[in-house]
Amino acid sequence: SSDLSASAALPSSVVVNTQQTEPHQRANATFVMLCRNTDLNGVVSSMQSVEDRFNRKYGYGWILLNDEEFTEEFIERVSVITKAPIQFGRVPPEMWVQPAWIDEERARKGRLSLVAQRVIYGGSVSYRNMCRFNSGFFYKHELLLPYRYYWRVEPDVQFFCDIEYDPFRFMQDEGKIYGWTISLLEWEATIPSLWTAVKEFITRNPQYLHEDNAMEFVSADGGATYNQCHFWSNFEIADMEFWRGEAYEAFFQYLEAKGGFYYERWGDAPVHSIAAALFAPRDKLHFFRDIGYRHEHFQHCPARAPLALTANANADAEEGEEDEHVPGAPVGKVSSHVGAGEPGVVGGA
Ligand code: GDP
Ligand code: MN
Repeated sequence: SSDLSASAALPSSVVVNTQQTEPHQRANATFVMLCRNTDLNGVVSSMQSVEDRFNRKYGYGWILLNDEEFTEEFIERVSVITKAPIQFGRVPPEMWVQPAWIDEERARKGRLSLVAQRVIYGGSVSYRNMCRFNSGFFYKHELLLPYRYYWRVEPDVQFFCDIEYDPFRFMQDEGKIYGWTISLLEWEATIPSLWTAVKEFITRNPQYLHEDNAMEFVSADGGATYNQCHFWSNFEIADMEFWRGEAYEAFFQYLEAKGGFYYERWGDAPVHSIAAALFAPRDKLHFFRDIGYRHEHFQHCPARAPLALTANANADAEEGEEDEHVPGAPVGKVSSHVGAGEPGVVGGA
C-alpha cells in the first residue's frame, strides 16, 4: 500500500497492522499523535478511548510521531490496541530542532524571562520545538503527506461519548476546514509580539485575509489587539490542504522568520487559531459540540452544552477543579472559556 511505501522510505519508521478493517466509505484521513516513549501509558489510554468510542467501527489508521526512535516495547504495546494500521514515524531534525539562525543568547534570555514569570514550559526548548513542529511541519511529514484530513490526539485524553458518525466524512462532506471542541485563552506572556507579527503580515498580504473571516473570534476591537482566544489544539480535526496552502505557508514562514517560537514561546494553538479565523471563511470552522472530550483540567461535555448559544456564553466560568467547557456560538460569536484555575494550566498546545 502507499502507507507502506511512505514509511519504507523513512528508515526509522515501522508499520504494523497493515490489514485494514472492513471497507467503509472512509475519508482520506488519519489520526496523528506526537509522543515520546515515556508517554506510553497515556498513548495507550488515549488510543483505547478513541477506538472504543469511535474507531473500532471505522478503522482509520494511526500515525504516531516521535523526535526519537520508538522503543520496541512501545511499538509492541501500542500495536495490540487496534486492528487499524499504525505507522510509527520519526520527526526529522530539520522539522524539530531549534534552527541554527536563531540567536541562542536571545532565546535563552526569553526562556529565563518566562521562567521568572512562572509560565508553564517557560524554560523548555523541547516544548518550543513541539509547538513549532505542530505549527508548521507535521502536515509536511512524509507519513502525513498522503492524507488530507487529520484528527490530532494527545496522550492522556479521554472521549466520553460514543461517536455515532464519522467526523472525517462530516468535514469532507461539508467542506469544513477546521474543527474544535474546546477554546481557551492563551497566557499572554508566551506570545507578546505574535499579534504585531500577524498585523504586519496582513498589511503586507491583504489578499489572504478572507472577506468572510472570523476576526471577532480573535479580536474584540476589530483587529487592533488579540483577545488571546484560541481553539485548544490538542484536539483538532482539520483539513491539511489549508495548512499546505499558499496563505498558511506564507503566514508560517513570516512567523518563523520572527523567531518567536524560540524568543517567546508561541504555541501552535494561537497560531492555528489565528490563521483559521482570518484566512478561512468562518462557515468552514466547526465546533464539534457533540464530541465529549477531556484533556487535563478542561473538558467539553455535549450534554451540558446549551443549544441556544450566545456571544457571552463563557461569562460565568464554573468554580471548582473541574472546568466544564462552556461553548459559545458557532465561530465568529464564539466560544471562549477561561478556566477558573491558574492561567498557567493552559498550555500552548
Ligand atoms: P500541553 O498539552 O501543552 O501541556 O503539552 P504536552 O506536554 O501535552 O505536549 C503536547 C503534545 O506534544 C503531546 O502529544 C506530547 O506527547 C507531545 N510532545 C511534547 N513534547 C514532546 C517532545 O519533546 N517529544 C515528542 N516526541 N513529543 C512531545
Ligand atoms: Mn497535552
